Amino acid sequence: MVFDAAVEELTQRIGKEIFARVDNTGPFPFSPAWWDDRIMDLSMRDEAVKLQMFRFTDVLPQLETPAAIVQHLREYFGEVRDRLPWLARLGLRLLPTHGPLGAAMAEVTRWSARRLARKFIAGSNIPEAVEAVRRMRARSLAFTVDLLGEATITEVEAEQAQAEYLQLISGLSEAVNAMPVNRLIDFDDAGPISRVNISVKLSALYSQFDPIDPDGTSRIVRSRLRPILRAARQANAFVNFDMEQYSFKDTTLQIFEEILSEPEFRDWSQVGIAIQAYLRDCGADLVRLRDWAARRGTPVWVRLVKGAYWDYETIMAKQLGWPIPVWSHKWESDAAYERHTVFLLENRQHLKPAFASHNIRSLAHALARAKLLHLPPGAIEIQMLYGMADPIKDVLVRMKQRVRVYTPYGELLPGMAYLVRRLLENTANESFLRASFTEHVPAEQLLRNPVELGQHHRVATNGAVVSIAPTDSARSRAEVHA
Ligand SMILES: Cc1cc2nc3c(=O)[nH]c(=O)nc-3n(C[C@H](O)[C@H](O)[C@H](O)COP(=O)(O)OP(=O)(O)OC[C@H]3O[C@@H](n4cnc5c(N)ncnc54)[C@H](O)[C@@H]3O)c2cc1C
Repeated sequence: MVFDAAVEELTQRIGKEIFARVDNTGPFPFSPAWWDDRIMDLSMRDEAVKLQMFRFTDVLPQLETPAAIVQHLREYFGEVRDRLPWLARLGLRLLPTHGPLGAAMAEVTRWSARRLARKFIAGSNIPEAVEAVRRMRARSLAFTVDLLGEATITEVEAEQAQAEYLQLISGLSEAVNAMPVNRLIDFDDAGPISRVNISVKLSALYSQFDPIDPDGTSRIVRSRLRPILRAARQANAFVNFDMEQYSFKDTTLQIFEEILSEPEFRDWSQVGIAIQAYLRDCGADLVRLRDWAARRGTPVWVRLVKGAYWDYETIMAKQLGWPIPVWSHKWESDAAYERHTVFLLENRQHLKPAFASHNIRSLAHALARAKLLHLPPGAIEIQMLYGMADPIKDVLVRMKQRVRVYTPYGELLPGMAYLVRRLLENTANESFLRASFTEHVPAEQLLRNPVELGQHHRVATNGAVVSIAPTDSARSRAEVHA
């Protein structure tokens, strides 16, 4: 395939500029952040240790006594004792279950887990979320706040989630709309945009969210969403619909389109949806969404992501004997991301593009395309997760890009699934952040065109389809969802 030389050249130039400006010096040795990095390093070095660490993190919130914590530490890490550094092995051997030492160990363990969670979770209540937002705005970073907790089990929980979203909108609006204006993040190419931005997971709003009954699910979810959308519109807040696992995708799209076609919301542009490039369906979904938005007559935003459930989708489809809905090679998802980037930029009249990624290659490609299309400043947006890739965020701000940070807040217990997903993402073999910040893979390699990588791959495998065996991290991901 012939690559578009101008696009590739500019992508490389922008990518190299970002790499050159990134401050890659790690945290001060022995600071708390340095210890966090050591824990991540340890888990990355060995898949078995990583699996136990994530299983332990997942179970920790349910352990009520110090003795239970110490016992689980011993059981989980005892299984991988031989793979641990000598100091950890010694600690494990000497670990007392009871008494003051056992209690102290349990306290340190809880403290460390909370610290790790705080890296990715902005706070456990609205005032803490407001403080996090204030700090981000001071760095010229925009935000979208997400309420932690997924897969609501009861209707009481669903109603609670609705009430919390409503409180979030009013709590944030009051505080954030009083903050000083920041032109980089409070305006797009057409004028002022909503400062307050929230992200909603539809499965939180209905305990029986069921793709087998999309119309019934849509009816109930829309009845819970309407007050949220009304409150948001009244407060001039933006609402984004997150995308969850594949089995919920069509119902999520249906609800998005149905509610935003209702007369009271039809002319509202401060809404968007996340679309996952790792899905083979993604191109067809984007065409459908574009046609719907054109009929609606008011554009919506699309947050283009690669997708957070790759291990889960792969394992579940294999277990059930269904076709795997996601691409099987990393370069395929990266290449799809670039194809869909082009589609969004070319259809921005109906689908306004937000590129959510920490991958400098994916972002440099989007920025290069936008530049070659002569898009005005502010026409596109870049989004990243709270606690991840901060040096890249700061560089993009210095390059005058609007960067929005996806900022989860909520109690740690419902937040553990989110935390484990972020830990898996950061420590996955294929992760861009791991390759660049931990393994220091050279920039030239990280900036390679994924289509070109795919051609090399086909030559190397002689065109054969390579099957990916489920990894330990995939298994642990499936357990998280079970
Ligand atoms: C602001 C923001 C909002 C987000 N919202 C959502 C959301 O609503 N729904 C959602 O699902 N995700 C969401 N995500 C997460 C996102 O989907 C990615 O998991 C994450 O951003 C990592 O992708 P990357 O481009 O940053 O990193 P990269 O390291 O370049 O890419 C990692 C991604 O590549 C894909 N991948 C990994 N291995 C393979 C393989 N073997 N074959 C094929 N593909 C592979 C996976 O999607 C994996 O997450 C969001 C991310 C951001 C930044």
